[in-house]
Amino acid sequence: MDDALFVKAAETTGRDCARLEVEIHAKNGELARNKAAAAALSGLRRAWSDTYAGKYGAHWFFVREYKIHNYASGRRHIDYAKFWVAAIADEPAKARDLAAQGKIALGEIADAKSVPCPSCEHPAPVVGRYEQTEDSWDGDTWETEIAALCLHCARLVNLGDDHKAVFCT
Ligand SMILES: [Zn+2]
Repeated sequence: MDDALFVKAAETTGRDCARLEVEIHAKNGELARNKAAAAALSGLRRAWSDTYAGKYGAHWFFVREYKIHNYASGRRHIDYAKFWVAAIADEPAKARDLAAQGKIALGEIADAKSVPCPSCEHPAPVVGRYEQTEDSWDGDTWETEIAALCLHCARLVNLGDDHKAVFCT
């Protein structure tokens, strides 16, 4: 009796481990996607007031237009026109003040370039992130990401990256 129980336990436990690993892998993926969307959604509300864009954390913005340049050297550069939306800003009045002084650009979510969400096909506004990813004596590394942010499934879909190193020496 115990022998049969032993064999059964060995089989089911192995199977359970494999199933749990698959489930955990899927959940980790879901968590990472949610964290990315949450970071974009909160960043878009407050990054209009960043004093040093991208130096101390991700600088998020809405993108009116963008163009990705791919050079023969393999180097890539992204040009973009950024803006924020006062109605969803953490401090709308202050954002409007800065815009009146010509310091930041404001618009409506509908002004952002849009692309169809790959999951639900609703038009998703294009957003961007600019951030210092490394700060060292050898040189700083900055990163630009252009992504679509679907507000229906709260999902961020990458549309292009530009990794650039700015050397201090
Ligand atoms: Zn969607």
